[in-house]
Amino acid sequence: MARRLLFLPGSAPLAVASVATSIKPRPLPPAELVHPPVSKGITRLSKQTTISADFGASGKGLHYNSPVTVKVKPAPAYTGYVFRRVDLNDFEVPASPEHVAHVSYATTLMKSGVMIATVEHLLSALMGCGVDNAIIEIDSVEAPILDGSSGPWAELIERAGVVELQAPRGYLSVLKRVEVREKDRVMSIEPADEFRVTCLIDFDHPMIGEQRREIGIGRRNYSKEIAPARTFGFVEEIEALRQSGLARGGSLENAIALTRDGMLNPEPLRFEDEFVRHKILDIIGDLALAGMPVLGHVRALRSGHGLHTMLLSTLLRDRDAWEVTNGKY
Ligand SMILES: [Zn+2]
Repeated sequence: MARRLLFLPGSAPLAVASVATSIKPRPLPPAELVHPPVSKGITRLSKQTTISADFGASGKGLHYNSPVTVKVKPAPAYTGYVFRRVDLNDFEVPASPEHVAHVSYATTLMKSGVMIATVEHLLSALMGCGVDNAIIEIDSVEAPILDGSSGPWAELIERAGVVELQAPRGYLSVLKRVEVREKDRVMSIEPADEFRVTCLIDFDHPMIGEQRREIGIGRRNYSKEIAPARTFGFVEEIEALRQSGLARGGSLENAIALTRDGMLNPEPLRFEDEFVRHKILDIIGDLALAGMPVLGHVRALRSGHGLHTMLLSTLLRDRDAWEVTNGKY
C-alpha cells in the first residue's frame, strides 16, 4: 500500500471568524459597470465564459479518503462557481469567501452544515483556464485529489473547451494595497493591470530551501507552468495529521512525500521549483473565491490557505480597496 502523507505544511489554522465575510463582489450588469479610462491605453473588453461541454473525474479525497465523482457543467453568466451536492438533494454551496469554513491544510466550504472540502485545486484550474461560470456536481464531501496537482483538471477543461457568453466579464480591480500577517507569514495585494503573483517559500529542506517565483497568470502559462505542480508534505508529520483526521487519502500517487533529506516518490520532480509553483496554484484557487478574475499583484511570503482567504476577506471588507470593472487597460 502506498505510504500516506500530509498536505500543505505551510498552512496554519486560523480562526474561522477572520475568514468569513458577508461582502461578495458580484459581476455588475452592463449599465452599472465602471468603464476603464480609454486614455490609459487600448481597452480590451472581454465577455464572461463557461465550458462548452460537461466533463468529470472520479477519485478519492485527500483528507477524508472518500470515493467521489465530480461532474462540471456549463453555467449561465453571473453564476460564478457553484458546488452542488447531488447526494444531498442537490444542495448548492457557492464558492465564496462567506462560505469558507476551514483553512487547515485545505480550503473547505460550508453552508447550512453542508461541506465541500479541498476545493482549491479545481477552483484554481477553472480560474487559471479562464472559466468564469460553472456548476460543479459532487457526490461526496471532498473533491478528488487526482494526482495532487491541477493538471488533470486543466486538461479536462481544455478538452471540453471554453466558450464566451453574452455578458461582459467583471474584474475585481484592486485600488489600494492591502496586507495581512500572521507571525512570519505575510501576504499583500496591490493595484496592477493583470493578475500577477510573486511567491516566496522557505523550508529547511535540501530539496526546497528558499524558492521564489513571479508570474503573470494567463490561460496558456497557467496550464504549462502552474497546473502540473503537485502538493507536498513531510513524512515526519503524517502521523500527527492522521490523528487529527487529515491526509487519510494521501499517497505517492497524489503528493510529493518529503523525508528528512529527500523524497519517497520514485519519479523526479516535474519542475525544479515545483513547491513554490504549487503554492502559486493554491493562491490562484483561493483567490478564485472572489467570484471573478482579479486585477492585482499578490505578494506572498510563507503563506497558506488561512492567509490566502484572510487576504481576500480583508480586501473585500475595505470598500475603498477595490471596484468591479469590465476590462483591462
Ligand atoms: Zn494545494
